[in-house]
Amino acid sequence: NNIPIGSPVRTQAIINRYFVKAKKNLGQNFLVDQAAILGIVQAADIQPNDQVIEIGPGIGSLTEQLLLAGAKVFAYEVDDSLPEILQNELPPKIDNQPLSQRFKLLLKDVLKANFKEDLAGFFDLKKPIKVVANLPYYITTPIIFALAESDLHFASLTLMMQKEVAERLEASPGNKEYGPLTISVQTEMKVNLALQVSHNSFMPRPKVDSSVVVLTPLKDKPVIGNRQHFVWVVKMCFAQRRKTLNNNLKALVPDNTTREALIKELGVDPRIRPEDLTIKQFIKIARNVHRK
Ligand code: SAM
Repeated sequence: NNIPIGSPVRTQAIINRYFVKAKKNLGQNFLVDQAAILGIVQAADIQPNDQVIEIGPGIGSLTEQLLLAGAKVFAYEVDDSLPEILQNELPPKIDNQPLSQRFKLLLKDVLKANFKEDLAGFFDLKKPIKVVANLPYYITTPIIFALAESDLHFASLTLMMQKEVAERLEASPGNKEYGPLTISVQTEMKVNLALQVSHNSFMPRPKVDSSVVVLTPLKDKPVIGNRQHFVWVVKMCFAQRRKTLNNNLKALVPDNTTREALIKELGVDPRIRPEDLTIKQFIKIARNVHRK
């Protein structure tokens, strides 16, 4: 079958053949735009023998192009009606290798993944891994937090998400989108916007447009100490986004003199808002705050 899965005619044929009903509660919006699909593969810079984790392959439109670009794909999916479709519709052979050597599907919630255990035997864990996904939107941020916290050796994460979430990842201090998600990701990774995808490129069509973002691990990561503590402090600083830093810090540093000294050390006006602080300044705050 030479027509790609992600073309509208082939997707419609698959939908008819297997009585597929896109499950809203699983965030199923299938890509039916070959240019967008190839755009994702290109943004991920897929090379032959790349090891790729795909989250939510759906009916395989992106999976197919990852395989054809030479990747070995390990996919997490939760919908148990999809393995049969993927098995039948993905190319049975790629570069003379049977599909089973190039593609493995695990029916498992990616938020419950134990990457090293799941991937062992299929991937060489000494080599870097790429993540490529058209993410289910209802759990985009938990997935990004989980990936940022995992100890896998990532080469990059190429993720399609709602445009609004991408704006939060990319934001700089002073933007209203700048917040805990921005800071949590930017302490680990460089964020690049690769392409914008219209809501018309999906079946069914979601309400909002999407962006593809490429995250690459930083070579020189800032030393943030205990990550959980750091993220907690940042979240506390943003507890009331519209209030001043001084006000937000009251819960963390109740003693007035200590708090004033900390703000002085940061070199900022106490009336500054959390969204105006740099990552370096949050690191300084986290170092000076102790959880009781
Ligand atoms: N990759 C396909 C595409 O681009 O057409 C489908 C993308 S669709 C936006 C998201 C996919 O993630 C669906 O196939 C859905 O069943 C799957 N999914 C939803 N929740 C998941 C979870 N917790 N773990 C793994 N996959 C999940």
